[in-house]
Amino acid sequence: MAQLIDGRKISQEMKDELKNKVEELKKAGREATLAVIQVGSDPASGVYVNNKKKACAYIGIRSASYELPEQTTEEELLALIGKLNRDKSVTGILVQLPLPMQIDEDKVIQAISPKKDVDGFHPENVGKLVTGGRGFVSCTPAGIIQLLKRSGIEIAGKKCVVVGRSNIVGKPMALLMLRENATVTVAHSKTRNLKEICRQADILIVAIGKPQFITAEYIKEGAVVIDVGIHRRNSADGGQSAKLCGDVCFSEAEPRASAITPVPGGVGPMTIAMLMNNCVEAMLTDA
Ligand code: NDP
Repeated sequence: MAQLIDGRKISQEMKDELKNKVEELKKAGREATLAVIQVGSDPASGVYVNNKKKACAYIGIRSASYELPEQTTEEELLALIGKLNRDKSVTGILVQLPLPMQIDEDKVIQAISPKKDVDGFHPENVGKLVTGGRGFVSCTPAGIIQLLKRSGIEIAGKKCVVVGRSNIVGKPMALLMLRENATVTVAHSKTRNLKEICRQADILIVAIGKPQFITAEYIKEGAVVIDVGIHRRNSADGGQSAKLCGDVCFSEAEPRASAITPVPGGVGPMTIAMLMNNCVEAMLTDA
């Protein structure tokens, strides 16, 4: 039976460590405020934003909410970001994505000061990840590194295949695994022989956004399988009790893997823990 990588437990451990660190930093006179901006009232975004605010309260940092109407213009949002960039009491800025159509997400990401970019999306922080400098790293891939390390899984020298090349998961994931001395292959929708490539992986990380796409024949016996995907699937009762599943077919993958993340309770909880980690890092830099 595969080792179940418990994201809930590891994320709780991390939040408790961060809570202690924040207490110490406060004694040394450091304070933190995370500005959380939400444009429009998308219910899923609302849930994410609330969870982030709750996590801030838990570890002991302030969160300031900016709930803007759906019809907010790009200029208005950029003006608010400019104000928060200049405000020395604000240590981190988070703009919940996706944004309404009239707003260019790239412009917004680039407007946030790299020193306050706790999501790690700003090109300056991405550049630091590429060149090996210190900067904020995108939370989901950073959380996966913690999951692996804290579960005692060695990365150096292993063959890692990352399926997916998005800017927020696949690409930073591949760079982080390279930084940890894995030999990395990145696969995507145009990759030929995906099954054969996946079957070479000692560590297979899947972030494609396709429910239960990765079945037994993609997995080498004894591989570590990390499932980033998250999907709601309706159950037999006609959707009354929607269940979550990942990009990996868990029931097929688990018997072949040596370790695997479940969905839910694997990668998901780590994203917020790493956001909190970035917020604490931001306390250490001068705003
Ligand atoms: P994107 O849609 O931005 O990227 C998907 C990537 O998968 C693309 O690079 C695409 O290739 C590739 N892909 C799609 N289909 C295939 C295929 N058949 N074979 C190989 N590659 C394929 O998704 P994200 O990276 O944002 O997210 C991926 C999943 O992770 C989603 O389910 C999302 O909900 C989840 N997620 C979970 C998080 C968490 O906290 N647990 C956080 C972020 C995301 P190409 O570039 O060629 O189009």
